[in-house]
Amino acid sequence: MRRFVYCKVVLTTSLVWVLVDVFLLLYFSECNKCDDRKDRSLLPALRAVMSRTHEGPGEMGKAVIIPKEDQEKMKELFKINQFNLMASDMIALNRSLPDVRLDGCKTKVYPDDLPNTSIVIVFHNEAWSTLLRTVHSVINRSPRHLLVEILLVDDASERGRGNFMKLRGAAASRGQVITFLDAHCECTVGWLEPLLARIKEDRKAVVCPIIDVISDETFEYMAGSDMTYGGFNWKLNFRWYPVPQREMDRRKGDRTLPVRTPTMAGGLFSIDRSYFEEIGTYDPGMDIWGGENLEMSFRIWQCGGSLEIVTCSHVGHVFRKATPYSFPGGTGQVINKNNRRLAEVWMDEFKDFFYIISPGVVRVDYGDVSARKALREALQCKPFSWYLENIYPDSQIPRRYYSLGEIRNVETNQCVDNMGRKENEKVGFFNCHGMGGNQVFSYTADKEIRTDDLCLDVSRLNGPVVMLKCHHMKGNQMFEYDAERLTLLHVNSNQCLDMPSEEDKMVPTLRDCNGSRSQQWLLRNMTLSM
Ligand code: UDP
Ligand code: MN
Repeated sequence: MRRFVYCKVVLTTSLVWVLVDVFLLLYFSECNKCDDRKDRSLLPALRAVMSRTHEGPGEMGKAVIIPKEDQEKMKELFKINQFNLMASDMIALNRSLPDVRLDGCKTKVYPDDLPNTSIVIVFHNEAWSTLLRTVHSVINRSPRHLLVEILLVDDASERGRGNFMKLRGAAASRGQVITFLDAHCECTVGWLEPLLARIKEDRKAVVCPIIDVISDETFEYMAGSDMTYGGFNWKLNFRWYPVPQREMDRRKGDRTLPVRTPTMAGGLFSIDRSYFEEIGTYDPGMDIWGGENLEMSFRIWQCGGSLEIVTCSHVGHVFRKATPYSFPGGTGQVINKNNRRLAEVWMDEFKDFFYIISPGVVRVDYGDVSARKALREALQCKPFSWYLENIYPDSQIPRRYYSLGEIRNVETNQCVDNMGRKENEKVGFFNCHGMGGNQVFSYTADKEIRTDDLCLDVSRLNGPVVMLKCHHMKGNQMFEYDAERLTLLHVNSNQCLDMPSEEDKMVPTLRDCNGSRSQQWLLRNMTLSM
């Protein structure tokens, strides 16, 4: 087995390029786990570098369409990395991309004396073409004097040690700023200067680019929005949500100014080196990945820094639908452990809410968090309630609610159940199981009935109950609970929530209020069983 390897790409002349490519080619062809890669060659992509025309596959960020006769092969190759490897291998390593920035960004002028940066890219069984395209895009689209080095850190372990490797990369780097990138990114024109400029203004600003989408199917480059920012749902999964009005107002409507974001996606950000050390780098007790992005986000905000999306900086990332890795014990246990550490160290009393939603988290061995708690003490970090009030008031965690638990029908003794369904689907109805999970709903002080970031919503008379993203505008999402009559009145339609009808058996529905037992509901409050 190969041991940890990292190679420093020294940027002296462009000739080094070719050497780097050749080196990586040799390096990968030694990789004994990658037999299926040996017979594939990077030649198409390399050839495309030499003779690049704007008509080549994927140029200007266009989608690559694989001809019919190659689609069987394409599907096979897709399994290796969970993205369209065949398409990636056809695209030039230095393909052209559209300039997707806001007009106001294109004319900004930055100071001459920006801090310089090291780029740290950790990779784990990455495809050559995506990794090299990342490196090419960094070099071609970054001012030379701002770029100290690019560190490619190979996480050659079976288990995967993503964070640990990021720390190794950071420790070996020399730049004033450390910029972390995933191994399947493409940087666009002008991506670096606005990130560094913001750090020069405020060394405690930790900054992310807008993460554009590179399609995992076609490698088409699609601009991300400057109107979404990072949050998290009830299960502490990172999610994108619309930038709220208060943040637009704070910037006086200027969309080219950085957005203060409650959380970051994790893989792509720049941070002042000394500040990175000062606030405690990463939690070394967290395994691989998952949860570390929220840990860092909470820590930055609670301990006096700020986390921002610099909307003038765009970097593309290949988003995958499934993870290509498999780890001993499964990814679920890893994420539970990381989330438990996150909740124990940073979330104060709000951890109980989280444990009610995810009882599995309470059962994992999460190791020793005393060093992280000591760090929190030493940095005199603010409580989680401060974070929720000041940084993330639009969070999905209901801070004031009437109940959190099952909604039981008096007539049938069955419960409202989200059935694991998604946004825009109907809510279900099922035997009560008392195990939380899909039967946990919160009736909030705003009179909405939520399950995670979705709210029960009815848009027509006698209509079925659908789950839509909570919009906080009352309207079709407002229900009034009468604790004596036990009715849930949908105010907009003036109808009552009732058990399912004959036609739509498993879906609660609205009917004219008639005092029947099928329109009576018990809202139970769950307690933590530890
Ligand atoms: N990675 C790693 N070791 C691991 C898992 C991931 O070095 O055990 C690297 C991976 O190659 C990538 C980055 O960490 O550069 C983020 O992982 P990934 O892209 O799979 O996460 P996602 O972007 O899907 O959240
Ligand atoms: Mn990634």
